[in-house]
Amino acid sequence: MTTALFREDAYLQSCTAVVTAITEQGFCVDKTVFYPLGGGQPGDSGLASWDDKKSRIADTRNGPEGIVHIVEAGDDVPPVGSAVELALDWERRFAHMRMHTALHLLGSILKYGVTGGNISATKSRLDFDTEDTVDKESVSSALNALVAANHPVHCRWISEQELDENPTLVRTMSVQPPRGKGDIRLLEIAGVDLQPCGGTHVRSTGEVGAIRIGKVEKKGRRNRRVNIHFGDKH
Ligand SMILES: [Zn+2]
Repeated sequence: MTTALFREDAYLQSCTAVVTAITEQGFCVDKTVFYPLGGGQPGDSGLASWDDKKSRIADTRNGPEGIVHIVEAGDDVPPVGSAVELALDWERRFAHMRMHTALHLLGSILKYGVTGGNISATKSRLDFDTEDTVDKESVSSALNALVAANHPVHCRWISEQELDENPTLVRTMSVQPPRGKGDIRLLEIAGVDLQPCGGTHVRSTGEVGAIRIGKVEKKGRRNRRVNIHFGDKH
């Protein structure tokens, strides 16, 4: 399997790794900074270099043999055993980290059940299980106030036993953690949000930057889809 370096440090932009397997679409390595598609966050893209070769990584997915780095069609796949330098398309990934953290903030303001979500480098959305009208103005100012407050963002791991011994922790969570999969990774924005999450986030809410609320769509009687965009681009 692949050691997920991004889980301990989301700010790592590159690493050296050894190729452990070749798959239909690409290759697996012993460790990586590339985040695989999951939890609404897209898989990373970037570059793999070895010997005098360079290949583009188009996408990253979880596979049975580890984290699969999907090679752009027509580019070379590094052979098993070779040492590769893996470098992220950092601009795209950092946008995902800002957006992902912004969705945690949005979920802390609109305290409804979340039925879906999606992140991209330019816009993101959450689907809320509610019939209520969402007031764009007040949500927007609450969101940007959380950004301006520059709250620290932490990840920590907790065992199921610790979780059972701290029932108040579960009560404060916006999403119930999955059980039976070993230790649980929690994302905490102190006093704002606490929930199980495996994605990549910025270190403090100030790094999210200005956020603009886009369309609020009515997707069924009990579903409000809230779209967000970076405030510095249109
Ligand atoms: Zn998250």
